[in-house]
Amino acid sequence: MLSPAALPTLLQVLTDPVLARAGIELRLKRDDLAHPTVPGNKWRKLAPNLARALADGHTRLLTFGGAYSTHVRAVAAAAQALGLSAVGVIRGEELAAAPRNWSLRAAEASGMELEFVSRSTYRGLVTGEHQGYGELLERWGRCLVLPEGGSNALAVRGAAQIPAEIPGLGERDVLCCPVGTGGTLAGIAAGLPVGARALGVAVLRGEGYLEREVMQFHKDSHGREFGNWRIHHGHHGGGYGKVPAEVEEFAVEFERRHRVAVERRYVAKTLLAVHDLAAAGELVPGTRVTVVVTGLPDPVSP
Ligand SMILES: *Cc1c(COP(=O)(O)O)cnc(C)c1O
Repeated sequence: MLSPAALPTLLQVLTDPVLARAGIELRLKRDDLAHPTVPGNKWRKLAPNLARALADGHTRLLTFGGAYSTHVRAVAAAAQALGLSAVGVIRGEELAAAPRNWSLRAAEASGMELEFVSRSTYRGLVTGEHQGYGELLERWGRCLVLPEGGSNALAVRGAAQIPAEIPGLGERDVLCCPVGTGGTLAGIAAGLPVGARALGVAVLRGEGYLEREVMQFHKDSHGREFGNWRIHHGHHGGGYGKVPAEVEEFAVEFERRHRVAVERRYVAKTLLAVHDLAAAGELVPGTRVTVVVTGLPDPVSP
């Protein structure tokens, strides 16, 4: 059995001098504490998909990810706990013969089988466009296919539970989260009460593309569009997985000041963006910002 998540997750009020000067209140929604093996937004997105897999009698999950994918590890751990088998299609065929990094080792230790494909094949497979997609499914038999990053309509509905756990949201509230695939932002926006807004911080270069993805998630999950969200593109730090010195320094200082461990590739960029937007006067004084802490720092440095 998969142990239940610790919900609702903690809502933590922080006192931050920089933000206080700008008239901004900061709270953290500690989704990083939701579950020991399926942490943060990975729980929110996977839980409804796992329920569907079991209800539909699936015995195998198949998903996609990079060499350090948190989503891949989370699927491996969840499948093992539920007695399902799992396949991870991993980007980078050169990894097949190399010693496993800590992340892939963890996935394999949970019983996940890994299949390594070239970057170009991977691109085509995740979009379902590659001719090898049919062969892949044939090879692994009947399975529930979860997209890269775990974002689909059910995942968006799972993430919509995040704002539902926060009482009293209204006009002065901004819920803020990192944007990788945009599934979490789409869910948060869809789950907000009227008046409150969602702000996503892109962690990769994706202006235009990410907005279209979020709109598509809304159509798939809720059959409509939402006008209460936007994506900030100024803090991707050079691209996905890149952690510039400025982000690192900010994270170290934030950890020291608030005694909260800060994941670097997503959460640190998001917190820094909130600080910079507040300091630049781009958040109206009186705004209450709730940053959703979507995950934990890596267990060891890669
Ligand atoms: C996977 C992940 C994200 C990305 O969420 P999306 O729904 O893909 O936008 C954000 N934060 C952390 C910590 C993650 O592990």
